[in-house]
Amino acid sequence: MQIFQQYIDGMFLDGSSQFDSLDPATGAPWAKMPAASVADVSRAVEAAERAFFSPDWALMTATARGKLLMRLADLIAENAPRLAELETRDTGKIIRETSAQIAYVAEYYRYYAGLADKIEGAHLPIDKPDMEVWLRREPIGVVAAIVPWNSQLFLSAVKIGPALAAGCTVVLKASEEGPAPMLEFARIFDQAGFPKGVLNIVTGGPEVGATLTSHPKVAHVAFTGGPETARHIVRNSAENLASTSLELGGKSPFIVFDDADLESAVNAQVSGVFAATGQSCVSGSRLVVHATIKDAFLARLKEKAEAIVIGAPDDMATEIGPLCTLRQRDNALALIAQSVKQGAKLVTGGVALERDGFYFPPTILDCDGAPEAVSLSQEFFGPVLSVVSFQTEAEAVEIANSTQFGLASGLFTQNLTRAHRMIRAIRAGIVWVNTYRAVSPIAPFGGHGLSGHGREGGIEAALDYTKVKAVWLRTSDEPIPDPFVMR
Ligand code: NAD
Repeated sequence: MQIFQQYIDGMFLDGSSQFDSLDPATGAPWAKMPAASVADVSRAVEAAERAFFSPDWALMTATARGKLLMRLADLIAENAPRLAELETRDTGKIIRETSAQIAYVAEYYRYYAGLADKIEGAHLPIDKPDMEVWLRREPIGVVAAIVPWNSQLFLSAVKIGPALAAGCTVVLKASEEGPAPMLEFARIFDQAGFPKGVLNIVTGGPEVGATLTSHPKVAHVAFTGGPETARHIVRNSAENLASTSLELGGKSPFIVFDDADLESAVNAQVSGVFAATGQSCVSGSRLVVHATIKDAFLARLKEKAEAIVIGAPDDMATEIGPLCTLRQRDNALALIAQSVKQGAKLVTGGVALERDGFYFPPTILDCDGAPEAVSLSQEFFGPVLSVVSFQTEAEAVEIANSTQFGLASGLFTQNLTRAHRMIRAIRAGIVWVNTYRAVSPIAPFGGHGLSGHGREGGIEAALDYTKVKAVWLRTSDEPIPDPFVMR
């Protein structure tokens, strides 16, 4: 079995213990992963803190930091096939997606490489004649980054990229479910030439995460995961009063009006809910469709869903692979059973496939007449679509905004004025119009409500990793006047 190590203070180390990582395509162990102890986490945070204040990093120009990030981007691009293979092996995410996504991860590092020396302060037109006042944007400190198992290289790039561009140092906890790609990434990072301790990567479960996020030397916690875990993170941050950015789940509406290009909308819906085997936070898992086209739309969608190629994740022909864990498959089954009891009707799928591994078929649930069905409000994190129809635009808005999440949304219409009204009315951090599941390092990504707060991607993400220092410089040579009057 392959053995992986963690990365602390520029060294590759075994954990205090090891755990088996399962291959989701077979359910069998394939590699041994290091489990970090409390002492390992402390060591990693101490190393990150030393690096943060060391002249090697603290006095490095932003331009030089950018060049290191650029070198890292090149190394990721060179090693993308190996990283993709590992992510597919350890998480079951299909190779078709990991190969494309990881090659694109390099672009995120390139974007933040370029941004490093463009994070500017400001000069203030202060209301005092003998004073110069300006703002310095300084790195916030040691960042604790926590990622879930899906798309770890991508979800860590949107944290590590802006954090290092801003001059922070990072301790990242890879997910205990499928940490291989992050532990391999550590080896690539090590070749880029950053000072030791700038990035540390440990792995382990909730206990390791709790130790890291409550550590007194952590200044900011960047978290991606579920809302329930986010509550723990926020409680943990009561210990160190760290700031937090939270990228959580969603129950994103995919709204189709009767004037939409149906072929395009059906394809986008397939991509929105079945790609990545539905294991995507922006999954368009609620189809909100105009009543007059519902039957036609569902018929086409059912046909496409049933034609999806389910197979081994490392086969380029596969379109849906296994779910990452058995827990998720059981969760999907339980939510479907409950929804059916509440009146939802199965259009297709819904039954676990009889084969080794954690496979689950594309599933569509018609929830018309079952507004309380749990499938309309709870995230599956699997290839399950819940459908509800509407008659009027107002009704579409009401349904779209009826969950506590607010991450992504999709809107399909040819009507320009309606599109603008809907864009304004939808409560979500992302609105895709006549497209779905498009991302870029240039565009901020994030939500509100139970979907979290803070943004990843774009300039805004880098600002999350800075704090502002106001500097006052008196320009007068005269003695300071009356000391008892505030200036
Ligand atoms: P999870 O919340 O169970 O775990 C996420 C991470 O948190 C893991 O690394 C886990 O070890 C760690 N963790 C667990 N308990 C902790 C604690 N008490 N303190 C600190 N860390 C702790 O999520 P998951 O099941 O691995 O991933 C699925 C979830 O992630 C879904 O809800 C999905 O929507 C969300 N997600 C969001 C985005 C986004 O960008 N918004 C992207 C991908 C996934």
